Amino acid sequence: LVGRMRPFGTTIFTEMSALAARTGSVNLGQGFPDTDGPPEMLDAAAEALRSGANQYPPLPGIPALRQAIATHEQRFWGLTHDPDTEVVVTAGATEAVAAAILGLCEAGDEVVCFEPYYDSYAASIALAGAVRRVVTLRPGPDGRYEFDEGELRAAFGPRTRLMLLNSPHNPTGKVFTPDELTLIARLCQEHDVYAVTDEVYEHLVFSDASTPHVPLATLPGMNERTLRISSAGKTFSCTGWKVGWATGPGPLVSSVLRVKQFLTFVNAGPLQPAVAVALNLPDSYFTGFRDTLQSRRDRLVAGLADAGFGLLPSEGTYFVTADIRPLGGTDGVDFCRTLPDRCGVVAVPTQVFYDHQDRGRHLIRFAFCKREDVIDEAAQRLRTLA
Ligand code: GLN
Repeated sequence: LVGRMRPFGTTIFTEMSALAARTGSVNLGQGFPDTDGPPEMLDAAAEALRSGANQYPPLPGIPALRQAIATHEQRFWGLTHDPDTEVVVTAGATEAVAAAILGLCEAGDEVVCFEPYYDSYAASIALAGAVRRVVTLRPGPDGRYEFDEGELRAAFGPRTRLMLLNSPHNPTGKVFTPDELTLIARLCQEHDVYAVTDEVYEHLVFSDASTPHVPLATLPGMNERTLRISSAGKTFSCTGWKVGWATGPGPLVSSVLRVKQFLTFVNAGPLQPAVAVALNLPDSYFTGFRDTLQSRRDRLVAGLADAGFGLLPSEGTYFVTADIRPLGGTDGVDFCRTLPDRCGVVAVPTQVFYDHQDRGRHLIRFAFCKREDVIDEAAQRLRTLA
């Protein structure tokens, strides 16, 4: 194995889902729903499979899906992108992130991102021979995660090539505020840096969040330097389909395409028309999905509080962060590895998403994108810990 990949072992999601299967635990680790997405989308996929849409789609994605992506962005965020030159369909958001970094960074270029970060970021940066400059998110006085302005400023320098921003944020459930985004936008412009935004949870911001979701690309001067990434997996409960996309200025999208054609070339032929159908669903689908997830969050949070965990506010995504110290835990990795034997529940230690692991040692992440009976079963099992 080459040196640049040596620090990356088996992902925590693979480890923890295998542990859940082996021990028959309730799996609140890896973030995937346990029910299917909208029936209109599933029917469209079945129909496409049977009507011969089973060969390579065009490299940038089928026209109907690129059009649906552009229309969706206009409808929800007021962003205008030409479906022919400013939209590319990818094998999930994961490929879009990887292709963006590989296509935009020279070896030695720096990528600024916040920790904790989604695990593929560090690996993709390493694959490109680039260097990550990490700024820590820390719970503030009200429990909401914050960052230090000076720390963010100091992370930008002459070698900075990209700002990689995930909002709504996995694993913390933080939604970046307009003030925070304004600062990030100013730094990107001052340092002439591109932004790559991972917005896979764009439709999962809850009604009690301190801010609605604001795409960084909508801030003045940002659309021309931002590549916006999202995915069908989270919004339409089809994480196994791996249909994602990136939108932005033509040259940035071209950079993704140039790399993508040698990573996967194309993907998910018969699923692409189905995702187009889903993106065109009425607003009620999107708000209904969010409301469902919000009530599942509340249900799990109540169960975790009953079980004695400390809890940090989750304003969006599939996830909530719990503090294990009130239950006598000190190390999240140890805690999560023994939790299945102690009570038959799987969670994910948050520290693996940090460069400075000590800063997240006492925190673990639970996924609430699960049926109510599953959440209730997990809560009942966790109560036996106290
Ligand atoms: N994004 C999902 C999570 O954070 C898992 C993705 C994966 O397994 N790689 O749980």
